[in-house]
Amino acid sequence: MQTKKLNNWIEQIAPQYPLMIAGPCSAETEEQVLATARGLVDKRVQVFRAGVWKPRTRPGSFEGVGEPALPWLKKVKDETGMKIAIEIANAGHAELALKYDIDILWIGARTSVNPFAVQEIADAIRGSGKVILIKNPVNPDLSLWIGAVERFHQVGMTDIGVIHRGFSSFRPGQYRNEPHWQLALDFKKRYPNIPVILDPSHICGRRDCIYDTAQMGLDLQYQGFMIETHIRPDEAWSDAKQQVTPERLLQIIDKLCLRKQEFIDPKLLDKLEFYRQQINQMDDELLELLSDRMKIAQEIGKIKKQKSVAVLQPGRWDEIMQKAVEKGQNLGLSEKFIQRLFKAIHQESIEKQEQIVKRKNLKL
Ligand code: PEP
Ligand code: MN
Repeated sequence: MQTKKLNNWIEQIAPQYPLMIAGPCSAETEEQVLATARGLVDKRVQVFRAGVWKPRTRPGSFEGVGEPALPWLKKVKDETGMKIAIEIANAGHAELALKYDIDILWIGARTSVNPFAVQEIADAIRGSGKVILIKNPVNPDLSLWIGAVERFHQVGMTDIGVIHRGFSSFRPGQYRNEPHWQLALDFKKRYPNIPVILDPSHICGRRDCIYDTAQMGLDLQYQGFMIETHIRPDEAWSDAKQQVTPERLLQIIDKLCLRKQEFIDPKLLDKLEFYRQQINQMDDELLELLSDRMKIAQEIGKIKKQKSVAVLQPGRWDEIMQKAVEKGQNLGLSEKFIQRLFKAIHQESIEKQEQIVKRKNLKL
C-alpha cells in the first residue's frame, strides 16, 4: 500500500495538534445530542461523534435511533461548526451517511473483522471524498486491520485514518479492551502516513483511566483522540461507565498539555527502542538459563531412575518454593508471581524427568 497522501485531511480539520473527536457513544435524543455538542464548543474539539446504529453484543439492548438521528447531527454541524462523525456497519448505513452529508465515517471494531462487510462499505462510499477511519478489529490481528485499510485504499479513498480502541481478551484485567500498544506501534511504523487516533474510552471501559491512557497516546505520538462524552454520562443508554461530561473532557484536554513541540520528540521513540532492546536481551538470557536448568534437572532424573527414587519429592519442592518467594520478595517481585513462575518451571522439570524415568535402556 502506497500511502503518500493519506494524512492531508487531519491537518485540514485539526491544524493545531491533536485531532479531538468527542461526543456520545449513542445519539439518544435530540436534546441529549445538542446539549452534549453545546458543551463541547471549544476550538480544541473539532469533530462531534455519535453512534446512530449500535452494534450490541446481545439483542434487545438499545440498538441506536437510526436515520431519525441524522438530522440532529446536521443541527450540531450548523450550530457549532464541528465536523460530524458516525459509525457505519453496512452499505445501507453508508448510503444514508452520504445522503445526510456526514463528514467522517468510521468502521467499528466488530465490522473491521469482516472482510465482506468492509468491502461492501468500501464499494458504497468509493468516490465520496469522505474521511474514513478504521477501528482495529476486536481480535489482535495486525494483518486483518491492514487488510481493512487496504480495501478502502483500493477503491480510491485518500482520506484514511485508523483508530486504536484495544482488543478483546479472555482474561479479566485492568482494561475493558487490552491495548496491546506494540500492535498499534507496528501499524504506525509500517504506515507512517496514516494517522493513528487513540480511543481511550473503549480501551479503559471506565472513566477514571481515560486521562492516563490518553497521556500514553500523546507520549507515543498518536495524531488524535476519540473520547466518548455525554451530557449526563450516568444516564447514557450505552457505555455509561466510560463516558465523561463535556466539562470533564475539556479538563482532561487542559491537563494533557497538547503542545506540538512536546509531541514531536523522536528521542522518546528512541528511548523506547533502547529499553525494548534491553528487554529482548534479558529474555534471551532468561531462556538460556531456563534451558540450562532443565538440563540439570534431566541429570537428576537419570540418578533418580538409577536409584529408583520417585520423581516428585514434595519436601524438596516446598523448600525451592519457599526460598524463591523469599528472595523474590526481597527483589520486589510479588509472591503470586513467583508462585506462578516456579510452578511452571517445576512442572516442566517434572515432565523432563518423567521422560527419562520412563525411557528404557538408559545409558548412564
Ligand atoms: C463506539 O465507538 O461506540 C463503538 C461501538 O466502538 P467499537 O467499535 O470500538 O466497539
Ligand atoms: Mn461506545
